[in-house]
Amino acid sequence: MLKNTQLEDWDRENFFHPSTHLAEFARGNLAQRVITTASGCHIEDSAGNRLLDGFAGLYCVNVGYGRPEIADAIAAQARELAYYHAYVGHGTEASITLSKMILDRAPEGMSKVYFGLGGSDANETNVKLVWYYNNIRGLPEKKKIISRWRGYHGSGLMTGSLTGLEAFQKKFDLPLDRVLHTDAPYYFRRKDLDQSEADFVAQCVASLEELIAREGADTIAAFIGEPALGTGGLVPPPAGYWPAIQEVLDRHDILLIADEVVTGFGRLGSMFGSDHYGMRPDLITIAKGLTSAYAPLSGSIVGDKMWKVLEQGTDENGPIGHGWTYSAHPIGAAAGVANLKLIDELDLVSTAGKVGAYLKGALNDALGDHANVGDIRGEGLLCAVELVEDRDSRSFFDPKKGVGAAVNAALLSRGVISRAMPQGDILGFAPPFCLSESEADEIAGKLAEAVREVLG
Ligand code: PLP
Repeated sequence: MLKNTQLEDWDRENFFHPSTHLAEFARGNLAQRVITTASGCHIEDSAGNRLLDGFAGLYCVNVGYGRPEIADAIAAQARELAYYHAYVGHGTEASITLSKMILDRAPEGMSKVYFGLGGSDANETNVKLVWYYNNIRGLPEKKKIISRWRGYHGSGLMTGSLTGLEAFQKKFDLPLDRVLHTDAPYYFRRKDLDQSEADFVAQCVASLEELIAREGADTIAAFIGEPALGTGGLVPPPAGYWPAIQEVLDRHDILLIADEVVTGFGRLGSMFGSDHYGMRPDLITIAKGLTSAYAPLSGSIVGDKMWKVLEQGTDENGPIGHGWTYSAHPIGAAAGVANLKLIDELDLVSTAGKVGAYLKGALNDALGDHANVGDIRGEGLLCAVELVEDRDSRSFFDPKKGVGAAVNAALLSRGVISRAMPQGDILGFAPPFCLSESEADEIAGKLAEAVREVLG
C-alpha cells in the first residue's frame, strides 16, 4: 500500500471529491480521511482509527469487507482475461454466467440483463430503452417519466433530473424536460397526523392520477421508484402502496422501473424489493449489491414485454445503438459471480432480515423514548432514525443548525459511521449483512450517547 506523508497535501491539491464542499475542503476546513484497509464491518484509516461502518460504504459492501473469495476471483479473471468487449455478441464465461445467475434470482417475467458500470448509467440505459420501446410501438409522444420527490436515481443528466432532491439539481440546470415528480410515500411526514395509512396511500394514488390526467397518459412512458426510498430518507412504503400504484400504471399503459440499486440482492431481507412489496416491474436497475462494490458493475434487467419490442426494433432498424466500452467488464462480472455465490453460501439474504430486525429493536430500546427522536424505521438492513424538534408536531429543526450532521459527527467520534441523509435530520444505517448482534448493540448504544451529547 502507498505510504506517503504528502498524501494529505496531494489530496487537497489534486483530487476533485464528489459530493463535497470544494472550497472548504481546499481551505483545509473539511476533514479528510484516507482509508487504508477494511475487514468485516470495520474500516481503518491512515490516522490509525478503526471504525464500525454502519453504512457499508455507500450501502454497497453488502457481504462485508475483505472477502478473499471475491478478491481471488477478481485476481484470477485479471490474469486470465482482463478485458474484452461485449459488443456484437461477444461475451466471457463470467458475464454469461452472471446474467444467468441474476435471472435465476430475479422476479418473474424478466428476460435479459444489460450490464453497465454504476446505478446512474443503468438508469440512463433504462430511460433510453423506454423511449426506444415507445418509438418502436409507434407512440412517439409517450415519453415522460414520473419519479417521486425524495427519490434518488443517480446524478447524470437524466438520472439527476429523476432524482427528487434539490441538492442534486441546483445550479446544474436540472431537471431536464420529460421528467415529472409526484408525492413521496412518506407516511411519517403526512400533513394530517390523524390520517390513516390506507387513506394516505389513497391520497398518493389520487395525486398520481391527477398528474396523469393533467399531462395525458399518452405522453407518459414510465414511472420510476425505489421499492423503499433510500437517499431521500430511508423510508419503507406504507402498506399496500405498490399494488395500488401498480394498478394505476397498468391501466394507463405506463411502464414500471424498479430502481433496486440499494434493495437488490438482499438488503430488505428478500432477494429483490420488488418481490418484497408486490411490484411487477418492466425494468429493474441493479448495481451496488451485485458485486458488493468489489468492482464497479450495474445492470438493467429487461422484462419479457419490453424485450420482444426491442428485438422487433432491431429487425426494423438494425443493431441497437447503445453500448459502453466497459459493458459487462469481465472483472466486474467475476466479482458479481463470486459475490452472489457467497450470498447464497452464507445465507446472507435471510441474515439481513434477521439482523435488521435486531438492529431496529436495539435502536428502539436505546432511543425510543428520547424527546427528539420522531421515528425509528426500517426494513431489513435499511434503517433510519429521524430527529425532530418537537415530537408531537414532528416539527423540523432549523436546517441551519445542522442537527443531523452534528449527531453524525458525535457518533463518528465514538467510532461508528452512519450517514447524515441529505434532506432532513435523518441518520441512516445500512451496514454489511454480516453485522453481528453485538455490533448492532454498539451502533444503538453509541448513537444514544451521540444524540444525548448534541440534544441533551
Ligand atoms: N439508484 C439508487 C436507488 C441509488 O441509491 C443510487 C446511488 O446511491 C443510484 C441509483 C446511482 O448509483 P451510482 O452512484 O452507482 O451511479
